[in-house]
Amino acid sequence: MPERGGRANGTATLRVCALYPDLMNIYADRGNLLVLERRCAWRALGFELTAAGLGEELDGAAHELFYIGGGQDRDQRLCAEDLIETKRSGLHEAAERGAVVLGVCGGYQLLGHSYTLAGEEIPGVGLLDVRTVREEGARLIGNVAIEVSLEDDGRDARVLAGFENHGGRTRLGDGQRALGRVLSGHGNDGRSGAEGARTGATIGTYLHGPLLPKNVWFADWLIARALGRDAEELAPLEDALERETHLSARAAAGV
Ligand code: GLN
Repeated sequence: MPERGGRANGTATLRVCALYPDLMNIYADRGNLLVLERRCAWRALGFELTAAGLGEELDGAAHELFYIGGGQDRDQRLCAEDLIETKRSGLHEAAERGAVVLGVCGGYQLLGHSYTLAGEEIPGVGLLDVRTVREEGARLIGNVAIEVSLEDDGRDARVLAGFENHGGRTRLGDGQRALGRVLSGHGNDGRSGAEGARTGATIGTYLHGPLLPKNVWFADWLIARALGRDAEELAPLEDALERETHLSARAAAGV
């Protein structure tokens, strides 16, 4: 019986399920998947990518990482309906099992309870205790940097840098923890200083860029978490270009 992550005979395979990769792919969010694939390959870890599109059931036990990118309101509405009908229970099952569930921007909004625009409430899957409302006012656009601490003791604070462009303002429920603290940019709602949301390994963020090419340390954390390992256990990679990319994304945000 292979361990979680398909680990067997000392090797491991990261099995990724990309939800609506064609419809939820604004700002080339699909690049996040490429980073996961490359970083696994460079370490001789297996990588399997499955797409789950409209109408396709999702098997919560068959993947270690679930990913949903950003999208236009119109595409998001289409996916939201399908998400509830064909993928909600699989995603909940996966999250309960400790699989990584990552949503970016529109995908983040759909991991919450709802996205309300022009009086219409688009329901989300409710994995994160957040609600999003498209209010009057300008879209929240620009470079963004946040401080993130993934360990509970807070001693590992690091920076995620990216680009945000959302009309929705997201509010966290009372007990919901943010992903990070805004250092520069707007974050969830342009006011609270909070960015994204995180419950265990279920994570939502507004950071595009795409997110992972600009923050490979975070990609490694996700890979390790999905495979049930510590990030330090992953073989180090050379990462000179990746470090430069990270620093340039931070510089763009003034951090
Ligand atoms: N449609 C959503 C909004 O504008 C999400 C946009 C996005 O994914 N970039 O708030």
